[in-house]
Amino acid sequence: MSAAQLPDQVDAVVVGAGLAGLAAARAVHTAGRSVLVLEAGDGVGGRLRTDVVDGFTLDRGFQVLLTAYPEVKAQLDLDALDFRRFDPGALVWTGRRLYTMADPRRRPSLMVASGVAPVGAMLDKVRLAGLVHRLRKKDPADLLRAPDRTTIQSLRDIGFTTRMIDRFFRPLLGGIQLDEGLTGSARMSDVVLHCLAVGDAGVPAKGMQAIPEQLAARLPDRAVRLGHEVVSVGQGEVRLAGGRVVRADAVVVATEGPVASRLLADETGHTAVADPGSRPVAAVWFAAPAPPVHHKLIILDGAHSGPALNVAVMSSVAPEYAPDGQTLVVAACPGVAPADDEGRAVLAAEVRAQLTRWWGRGVADWRVLRVDAIHHGQPEHRPPFDPKRRVALGDGMFVCGDHRDTPSIQGALFSGRRCGNAVVESLAG
Ligand SMILES: Cc1cc2nc3c(=O)[nH]c(=O)nc-3n(C[C@H](O)[C@H](O)[C@H](O)COP(=O)(O)OP(=O)(O)OC[C@H]3O[C@@H](n4cnc5c(N)ncnc54)[C@H](O)[C@@H]3O)c2cc1C
Repeated sequence: MSAAQLPDQVDAVVVGAGLAGLAAARAVHTAGRSVLVLEAGDGVGGRLRTDVVDGFTLDRGFQVLLTAYPEVKAQLDLDALDFRRFDPGALVWTGRRLYTMADPRRRPSLMVASGVAPVGAMLDKVRLAGLVHRLRKKDPADLLRAPDRTTIQSLRDIGFTTRMIDRFFRPLLGGIQLDEGLTGSARMSDVVLHCLAVGDAGVPAKGMQAIPEQLAARLPDRAVRLGHEVVSVGQGEVRLAGGRVVRADAVVVATEGPVASRLLADETGHTAVADPGSRPVAAVWFAAPAPPVHHKLIILDGAHSGPALNVAVMSSVAPEYAPDGQTLVVAACPGVAPADDEGRAVLAAEVRAQLTRWWGRGVADWRVLRVDAIHHGQPEHRPPFDPKRRVALGDGMFVCGDHRDTPSIQGALFSGRRCGNAVVESLAG
């Protein structure tokens, strides 16, 4: 699509076709207003992209959708996504072998196995059951309003032992929130634990990019234009690389937080949106001849035996992710994002050595399909964490993205919808 075919003027222009931008565009379109989404990349989805490599479905980085996110109900059709679910619970590597940890309410048959797993003391398991019971009954919005502190402080205050924190919470929450140090917001961790307790984690059969594609399909043809990088934004207009200008009554910046901060800075460097900071993450994808375990459980490294904090046999959860008779394993490594091929090869070798300690020499035969290194995996979320930052900046300027709400799929979708509604209100006024 050439820039010449872009409209000159629309009601709202959205910069970025990630979940937030698409959700904002949908709210504007639903209200009967014209909207144009300009995306620098070659597909929709932003941080939710998927590629097919040698017949394997590889998301860009390992991630999952939690079905209990409130915006799933509000904005997505899970059935149409052919959603494939992990089993609730986890396998935990303790340095000797893998042990099962499961919520006894959801997997009563695993109650004894979970109770005796040397992942924490018996009192830890009792405290975990109490925490899950308490969080299950809460509304996520209330959890986000509770007094905040770091996750590690919160877990210590509850009385969990260091062993329980290191073997269970650090790989579980650290993996989901890209926060191995557990220095992020306890409010956020409580929301994640709530969602894990009441819903499922999983992926669409065709990969995570199916989620933004579902949102984009609800917009008019040609509302989303790919390969159009916006280089500056101002009141009533955006300028593209190449100099083309599109005018709009409302301008929505729906890029990653650090890019939004730059785009929304004035000539003195003052910006309407502070750079939220970045949590990096890498993922190593392996093709294996057979599954190393026969479970649909996430696997947590509770022994810190290498760079991978979470491992998943994706083809056991979503058979569509691998060609028939083959196995796809992903190892997620929060906190690192090697900048070059050499760094990626070193990381893959370290992960292979780690998994060889778990599963033996057969891992030597696994083929590395790809190493993803993502510098801006999620924005920072240190306490006290403000989950509902302003999206209307004045003068027809708006901003949305996971840096305005929680650093998650939920946060991106919610901020986009909230921003789109604010745009509609301002256009009506
Ligand atoms: C590896 C990884 C694992 C994760 N795991 C989970 C998980 O398990 N569960 C969960 O809920 N969340 C997870 N997340 C977070 C989640 O993916 C993000 O919070 C969410 O996708 C952010 O969406 P967004 O729309 O705010 O931003 P983005 O998806 O980053 O979208 C921004 C868009 O703006 C475009 N853009 C940028 N600059 C320009 C420009 N100048 N002109 C035009 N377009 C531009 C970008 O190309 C991009 O498409 C994970 C993220 C990563 C990377």
